[in-house]
Amino acid sequence: MIDIACIGCGFSYDDPAWIEAVVSDKVFEKITVSPYQGAGILCIQCIARRCVEAELEDVRVIITAGVLKTDSQRK
Ligand SMILES: [Zn+2]
Repeated sequence: MIDIACIGCGFSYDDPAWIEAVVSDKVFEKITVSPYQGAGILCIQCIARRCVEAELEDVRVIITAGVLKTDSQRK
């Protein structure tokens, strides 16, 4: 089994508390290590922290997996 984890803090992707959040490629380029190698993932907390550090505001995120859904995803 491949152990996938956040490149920011090491939080395991397999943890049930992992919230899969997707930001735009443009945002991800600004918050990930550069050059982006295509293999890194960030947990939602590290996404938030790095967005603040990059002085990004109103960053749109899509929750794509896990137990939590945004209101617009409610069925
Ligand atoms: Zn993290």
